[in-house]
Amino acid sequence: MIEIRNLSHQYGDRQVLKNVSFTVEPGKLTGFVGANGAGKTTTMRAMLGLIRPTSGEVLLNGRPITATDRVGIGYMPEERGLYPKMKLHEQIVYFAQLHGVDKAVANRRADELLDRLGLAERRDEIVESLSLGNQQRAQICVALVHEPNILVLDEPFSGLDPIAVEVVLDVLNQRAKMGAPVLFSSHQLEVVEKLSDNLVIISQGEIKAAGTRRELQEAHSRGLYRIGVDDHTWLTQQPGVEVLERLEDGVVVRIAGDADEPAARAQQLLRDAIAHGRVTEFGRHLVPLTTIFKEVR
Ligand code: ATP
Repeated sequence: MIEIRNLSHQYGDRQVLKNVSFTVEPGKLTGFVGANGAGKTTTMRAMLGLIRPTSGEVLLNGRPITATDRVGIGYMPEERGLYPKMKLHEQIVYFAQLHGVDKAVANRRADELLDRLGLAERRDEIVESLSLGNQQRAQICVALVHEPNILVLDEPFSGLDPIAVEVVLDVLNQRAKMGAPVLFSSHQLEVVEKLSDNLVIISQGEIKAAGTRRELQEAHSRGLYRIGVDDHTWLTQQPGVEVLERLEDGVVVRIAGDADEPAARAQQLLRDAIAHGRVTEFGRHLVPLTTIFKEVR
């Protein structure tokens, strides 16, 4: 488990991280989401020891993370870090060796990763001749080749086509299943929504929400129900019920009240709906990540 505790950072007199705290659990994919300039890269750099934060600490399994621990991190930096003139396979082997991997093992792993990421045929091409998406895949090979036990990936899915997203996701899930904590940042909310077990939302250097995807969705969906009815006009006249969204085959409503009240009121509303005609759907409505993102930012 990685614990980011009260991390603050200033560039000059500009404070870009303010008491950032969250955890990255082993065996889970944690999506780190925030607008441009929110502080994701700065947080990751602090985790890697590439910047020294003004205050705060990064713990690994309850103790301050060390330089040796950091060598074991698979990091994909935002600015990327490949040598443009070096051949792909050679480059992956080179980075593996920098992490102390034996050359024969590095060769084998480079072959496996290139194959897995659909780059086998390009193994002897120089990096700058690859498309941006393929360079991105190559960067992922480099981050994984030393079989890191922690992954910190800055925008690993940007520029990838949907099939490559699936492949990379598969690889990350596999690492997570082996017990690695995996943190990745992304702007693609629909990707994060689909992929992450846990979410951390940062805005202007402050953590605005963190938890499992389901917890966050539940917290932002209190009192929301989806009701599939042919005619919903009667719903607008129901006390304590607000129609929020019209769907093709029904509506999303918010039922006012605290704690258990909406659930009890929902039962009554279901009976009323049946009395008004055909009901094709009735259930809790969970808001998408985009809604949560807009609400907390
Ligand atoms: P993006 O999604 O655009 O990559 P981000 O969430 O990763 O953004 P950071 O790169 O961490 O955000 O930047 C946070 C803030 O720190 C921004 O306002 C940025 O301009 C500023 N910043 C980042 N690096 C430096 C630096 N080396 N010197 C001064 N300011 C910096």
